Order: sequence, then C-alpha cells, then structure tokens
Amino acid sequence: QARAGKLYSSQDSVVILDSKTIKKALLNSSSAWVLEFYSSWCGHCINYAPTWKALASDVKDWEPAIKIGVLDCAEETNYELCKEYDIRFYPSFRFFKLEEKKLLLRSDFRINRFICVLSACYINSLQSFLPPLKSQEMSCSQLTLSFSTPTSAFFSQKKSHYMCVLSFVVVEVCAQILIFDSQILPPPPPSVTPNFKKVGSVFCFCFSPNRQHPLRSYLSSYLKSLPGVKRKLLSQENVAIKHHKEENNAIETWKTLDRSLLYMSDLESGLHYLLRVELASHKTLEGAELKTFKDFTILIAKLFPGRQPVVKLLETLQEWLVSLPLDKIPYNAILDLVNNKMRISGMFLSNRIQWVGCQGSRQQLRGYPCSLWTLFHTLTVQAAIRPEALRNTGFEDNPRVVLQIMRRYIQHFFGCRECAQHFEEMAEESMDSVKTVDEAILWLWKKHNAVNKRLAGAPSEDPEFPKVQWPTPDFCPACHKSIKGLHTWNEDEVLKFLKRHYSTENISYKYTV
Ligand code: FAD
Repeated sequence: QARAGKLYSSQDSVVILDSKTIKKALLNSSSAWVLEFYSSWCGHCINYAPTWKALASDVKDWEPAIKIGVLDCAEETNYELCKEYDIRFYPSFRFFKLEEKKLLLRSDFRINRFICVLSACYINSLQSFLPPLKSQEMSCSQLTLSFSTPTSAFFSQKKSHYMCVLSFVVVEVCAQILIFDSQILPPPPPSVTPNFKKVGSVFCFCFSPNRQHPLRSYLSSYLKSLPGVKRKLLSQENVAIKHHKEENNAIETWKTLDRSLLYMSDLESGLHYLLRVELASHKTLEGAELKTFKDFTILIAKLFPGRQPVVKLLETLQEWLVSLPLDKIPYNAILDLVNNKMRISGMFLSNRIQWVGCQGSRQQLRGYPCSLWTLFHTLTVQAAIRPEALRNTGFEDNPRVVLQIMRRYIQHFFGCRECAQHFEEMAEESMDSVKTVDEAILWLWKKHNAVNKRLAGAPSEDPEFPKVQWPTPDFCPACHKSIKGLHTWNEDEVLKFLKRHYSTENISYKYTV
C-alpha cells in the first residue's frame, strides 16, 4: 500500500517551496511574499490549509504584487531553514520583501479562519512595515504606500478601524492596479460609487466592516473597461517550482504492524524529532524553558524504557546538564552531545524517522504527535511500575511529576500552539486532583480520550486510525461495562490494560535501525 498526499498540491494557488527553492524564488521575484511555515503533522495546520488555499486563490490575480507560499517544516530537508527563520510554532507566517537586492523578513501575521478578514489582516500588517510618508503620492510598485496628511486628517475624525479599512482598500486598489499593464489611470468617476472619495491622490472607500464591499470587482471591471489597459501575463516561475516539488515527493511504503504492540521505532523517532528538531528551534534555553528541559531530561533518563545506547545518551545528557551551573545554554551545545554518532562510545540515537505504530495512511497524518502521546503514556506507566527509578531525583514523592513535566513541555515547546492551549485548559481544570501514580496514568488516558472525542471527524483524523474512545472493546473487552444499558468504563481494568500496553514487555523492536 503506497502512502501519498501532502497538505498542499500543485492544484492549489499557493507556491510550494522547500529549502532548495525558497531563496531562488524569493530573490528572483519582483513581488512581495507571504509564506506559511507549517508542519504537516500539526492538526491545526491540517485544519487551516483550506483557509490558506482559499486566500491564495482569492488573491491569485495579485501575483505581480504579492505571492502566497507554503513550506513544510516537518520535512527533514527543511529543518535547518525553519530554524534559520526562527519558526518555533505552527503555523507561522512571514512576510518577505526584496529591497535593494536584500530579502527583508518581517514579523508574524495573525491567523484568522475567515478569508476576508485574513486578507485585511495581512494587508494591515504590510502597511505597518511601509516606509514613512514622503509625499501625497501612492506608489504601486511592490506594494509601497504612503499616506498624505489630508488622508490622515480625513480619517482622524473616524473610528480607528477606518484606518485599517483604508489600508486594506488602498492596498487592494494597488494590487488590482498592478495586474494591469498601464502606467496612468484616471480615477473612477465618483458618481459610480457615492462612497468612493478622492483625498489628495489617494482613493478612499468607506464601508462597514461587516458588509462585503464591491470595490474589488468594481475596480477590476472599471480598469478593464479603460482604453489601452491590458492584463499583464502571469509569471511562469511558480509552475517551475511546483514541478520541482512534485518530482521530489517520495512515496513511502506501508509497514505492517500489530496494533496491540508499542514500537520502539516510534519512541525513538519521536525522541529524535523532539531533541533534534522541536527543541532545536530554540536557539538558547534559559529561565522556565531551561528548567523544563532539565526536568524533562531527568525524567527520560530515568524512565525511558529504551535500548542501551539511547539510555546511555539520555543519562549522559542529564549528567552534563546537572554539572553545568549556567542559567543560559545555547541549544547547539546540547545538539553537539545528542548528535554523537559514535556507536562505539556506547551512546547513540538514530536520526532516521521510522513511524510504525504511528505511521499514517497519508504522509501528513499521525507521526510526531502520536509518538508524543505514546512517550508520555509510557512515562506515566513506568513511573508507577518502577518508582525506584526516580530515587534521589527530587521527583520520588510527587505522583504528578510526569504530568507536570509533560504540561510544561507542551506549554513551552510543542509546535502546535492550539493543541498546547487546549491541553493547558484541561491541565488547569483537574491535574491538581491527581493523588497517586495510578491516578496519573488514568488522568492522561481520560484527557487523551477527551482530545480524541473533540477531534473525531476533523480533517486531521486518519481514516485508517479513527479517533475512538480507546481502548476499544476488541482490545480490552473487560474495560467496558454496561450499567442499566449505559456504557461505562471499568477503570480498574483500564488501569491494568494501560500498565500492560505501555510496559517494556509490550515493545516491539521491529524496524528499529
Ligand atoms: P493519537 O491520538 O496520537 O494516539 C496515539 C496512540 O495512542 C493511538 O494510536 C493509540 O494506540 C493510543 N491511544 C489513543 N487514545 C488513547 C488514550 N485515551 N489513552 C492511551 N492511549 C491512547 N490535534 C489537534 O488537531 N488538536 C488538538 O487540540 C490537539 N491537542 C493535542 C494535545 C497533545 C498533548 C498532543 C500530544 C497532541 C494533540 N493533538 C491535537 C494531536 C492529536 O491528538 C493526535 O496526536 C494526532 O491527530 C495523531 O492522531 P493518531 O491517530 O496518531 O492518534
């Protein structure tokens, strides 16, 4: 069975970039770019993709002024690039503009599900980066705008949102004009649109933010009707980039698996991604982030039920961190240790991703978040089965320690921000009620099921691995019971099942490298 399919394809109006094509595309382009840096495993990126595609399709005609692109930070070949652009969370948006042959990178854009608001939002962001006012002129080259005093005066009597509306409309006007091959355009006759006012050389169009404005289609048809105005040809460069991308989309093959087992390959691949990619997007660790990383390292060094070279690596990392009295550590120093390739020294963590129990039927599904759940369930169970492992760590008398460290890890480092927010809400609500290590196992199980329930039917659900209340009766018949015809869980049996399922004895080493 072949696996294929990414979040974006050549059928979409977005330009699909990667580490090989991005610089060439941006540096050879006369237009500005808005890029979405996403992660194909991130549920919110999966849910958000239709919005970004719709936006790209909506502003496709603006290509000479602005292009919409995407880049997948979960692809191994893009890791370094995403680090270079300081992408820590997904999706992240960046605006690029070429000025004097240098690529200027601008800050984030807020995300919004509604495409019309999104257009306005990113255009507003563009406006805040524009150079200060020089004249009353509005230049349409590369979306450079300037506002005249009369314009500001005109709007100073109005509420602030009119200013946003102004920048939105003006940039729309600008982008619309740019697609036409004409230098001088006369203003549209005011009689046609009574709300359309001329202030200095800037056209202002006042409308209620809640009502759809007709400016765009009006202006487009107005411009087309002018004598001597022809549409510019769209560039071919995107087509070339798309083809490059498709050629490079390798199709992986399905690995056979037994769903009742845990796979070491998932745990190790997850650990590799966590240590070398997710954490590595943070250039330095200090304060609460450093404390979380140190505590997390102690936890995995003591409880990760791994193979000897991996455990040795984790122990060495933990000892090294404890011995460092620094309150700020560059992550590259940590990476140097983690990247130790010397199997001979007895410590090694493969940098090859091999999802088995966590593989998806399509490339963007499952993978890393699945391995993260698996890791933390395993740690809650290990803490209950082997309490002696935490002796002398300062964690031994704390039944909630795995959950607390997981909570802080997710809060500081997990790339999917909306997932982190949801998890934090659940933690705040009830994590403190956990009193024993067994309750910690059950707490995480319940919360994971709450997430499964919320995500059932979402675009991030893999049809081959539906979001069900887990374990299903075929896995654990005794976990289910019926009281007066109503389904309920037998929590004693669930606990026994989880302790068995997430135990060292249930781990398969198939596909490990
Ligand atoms: P997963 O849910 O990842 O489960 C992995 C494996 O764990 C399953 O295959 C099964 O063997 C086992 N399992 C399933 N349920 C349980 C359970 N109740 N107890 C113990 N083991 C179980 N995605 C979003 O789109 N929105 C979110 O808000 C969101 N929040 C998340 C919060 C956290 C902390 C994490 C780690 C992930 C979150 N995700 C979220 C991702 C999402 O939960 C899934 O991980 C992702 O969709 C992949 O799903 P999956 O099919 O691999 O199964």
